[in-house]
Amino acid sequence: MEKKNIKDYDLEELKQEIENLGEKKFRAEQIFKWLYQEKVKSFDEMTNISLDLREKLKENYTICNFNILKKQESKDGTIKYLFDVLDGNAIETVLMSYHHGYSICVSSQIGCKMGCKFCASTGIEFSRNLSSGEIVEQILAVEQDTGIRISNVVFMGIGEPLDNYDNVINAIHIINNQKGLNIGARHISISTSGLIPKIYKLAEENIPCTLSISLHATTNEKRSEMMPVNNTYPIEELIKACKEYLEQTNRRISFEYALAKDNNDNIEDAKRLVKLLKGMLCHVNLIPINKIENGKFKKSSNENIIRFRDYLNEHGIVATIRRELGSDIDAACGQLRRKNSHLKMKS
Ligand code: SAH
Repeated sequence: MEKKNIKDYDLEELKQEIENLGEKKFRAEQIFKWLYQEKVKSFDEMTNISLDLREKLKENYTICNFNILKKQESKDGTIKYLFDVLDGNAIETVLMSYHHGYSICVSSQIGCKMGCKFCASTGIEFSRNLSSGEIVEQILAVEQDTGIRISNVVFMGIGEPLDNYDNVINAIHIINNQKGLNIGARHISISTSGLIPKIYKLAEENIPCTLSISLHATTNEKRSEMMPVNNTYPIEELIKACKEYLEQTNRRISFEYALAKDNNDNIEDAKRLVKLLKGMLCHVNLIPINKIENGKFKKSSNENIIRFRDYLNEHGIVATIRRELGSDIDAACGQLRRKNSHLKMKS
């Protein structure tokens, strides 16, 4: 039988696993602390666990520890990692430094199925979902490499987190647990291209993390052109789901809007955006779109970006322009793709 990665279990599941091994549940808490607070890389380092149990653990589980394949540092301090996920695949993770602490942008899948026209992940064959342990390991590996403590986690790397729902939620349980990585749910953001059924499901979870919606356009025609997912989940239904989410959770939603020149950056777009979001507890994050290789979308002019922001703010919608980080190492929004990066390394 193939051994399971012990980092794939949240605390409740781990308690069950440990009980199944004929041991007391509280051992699971000890193991959890070793993994996520002491950040050990082997069962032998878990010195308050009996030798007998350590042997059982070794027989049944592995501890996944990623290897760094590549590390690139930007002038602004952003670091992009390429991790070997131990099955021949590689994934990207980005560490960003802000005045309020360190944020990590994690990947949730190897490749992506969404096909957004402006995103560099498009065109890479979807390979598989990342397991919960592989999502969490991105944080552990970066903390170990840098010695810093990460305070914010954003699911904005490669993949559609809500298309890997269970593993993402489980990873959040581990990240959020006080005996785990102990990062407050309010410091965790999930970004989605708009998988409506999963937004309703997320509203039912008792996790007060931030929901970010990649909106990017204000008409179905334009949005479908940019994001094929809009053909299945159009704008009006998406906004309805967001309103329902707000109703249930009372947690502010963040809307992502990547501004592309002569595409979605004129005042008519801003007017429609105001109409769509009027009265909602939300925030708009304006992202100067990053041009990708062969991409047809170009960055809006600074003048248009500021005009767009000001229009929103003057009409009651809180909007800010996202600072670009890591653009010199292709680590800025939507650029997470470099030659070979998440293609199979072996083939
Ligand atoms: N699949 C998820 C999360 C990954 S993308 C989602 O769609 O939200 C993270 C964010 O980067 C999304 O808001 C996405 O629309 C944005 N993005 C992708 N490519 C971009 C680009 N070239 N320029 C600016 N933002 C981009």
